[in-house]
Amino acid sequence: GIVLERRKGVVVRFGSRNMEVVDAETGGRLICTMPGRFRLQGIRPIVGDRVEYALSGDGQGRIESILPRKTELLRPRISNIEQILLVLSLKEPAVQNLITDRFLVLAEYAKLPVTIVVNKIDLINNEELDRFSDVYGEHYEICPVSSKNRINLDRLREVLKGKISVMAGMSGVGKSSLLNSLNPGLKLRVSEISRGLERGRHTTSYVELLQFEFGGLIADTPGFANLELPVIAPENLDKCFPEISQEQGMCAFSDCVHVDEPGCYVKELVEAGSIHRSRYESYLIMYNELKEREQEK
Ligand code: GDP
Ligand code: ZN
Repeated sequence: GIVLERRKGVVVRFGSRNMEVVDAETGGRLICTMPGRFRLQGIRPIVGDRVEYALSGDGQGRIESILPRKTELLRPRISNIEQILLVLSLKEPAVQNLITDRFLVLAEYAKLPVTIVVNKIDLINNEELDRFSDVYGEHYEICPVSSKNRINLDRLREVLKGKISVMAGMSGVGKSSLLNSLNPGLKLRVSEISRGLERGRHTTSYVELLQFEFGGLIADTPGFANLELPVIAPENLDKCFPEISQEQGMCAFSDCVHVDEPGCYVKELVEAGSIHRSRYESYLIMYNELKEREQEK
């Protein structure tokens, strides 16, 4: 058709021959095709890409260019993510500090801001929430909610509004329930099994960005699902712990890794209680894991 105007949008989903784009201004969805030259030039758009497209008279679009990617997550493969929502619960299932800390390291390494969503607060009292906030509240935004009792959902909507987000968190903490409470009709894909089935049926279904009616996009597939640590040099792990990295330069040795060096300021802070012991223990466990991995090579 005849080109009516040039517009901007975000790729939210792929079909076999085309893709779905959400218009940046109107939030309307449309089908876009890709120019043949993209293949020749090796240009491959992915979900999350911000694109310029030409709108034609028949309501379809044709991608003209892909804007530079600001971030790129590999699993799921998605660009321009602006934040991670780490969803957990303090009961049913009880939070495990080491797992929380692994998720946080993965997010820090990917340089993505994190909001910790404490779901199921209908099951806990204020003291239990305070104890958790003592450990994480100084360096991370905490948003306590109950998907079931619909507590504090407006605050979570504010966090999500206008952004591209990915949820992370163990299964059973309420990720899919939360999405449905925030915006009935949305559905998070959770299990690998059902994903496998879907892929069998229509081979083009990968990650998809879901569109909140209050504005904002969220991946339908949780991030960091296998919790595997990326290739971090052991001596750089401290940069993924904000309470440790902010003390950079305070230890006696400039290359201190805060394990058994004399004059380690980080260990002093742990003894004094201002760095939480469970965080430090997670640091040691992950440090040793990275060290072992390094030695295996
Ligand atoms: P997911 O695996 O993270 O997607 O978790 P689901 O959304 O499937 O939820 C797991 C279980 O937790 C389900 O039985 C939900 O009904 C329950 N659940 C979800 N949110 C809440 C909540 O706020 N409070 C309580 N008590 N249970 C919840
Ligand atoms: Zn140190």
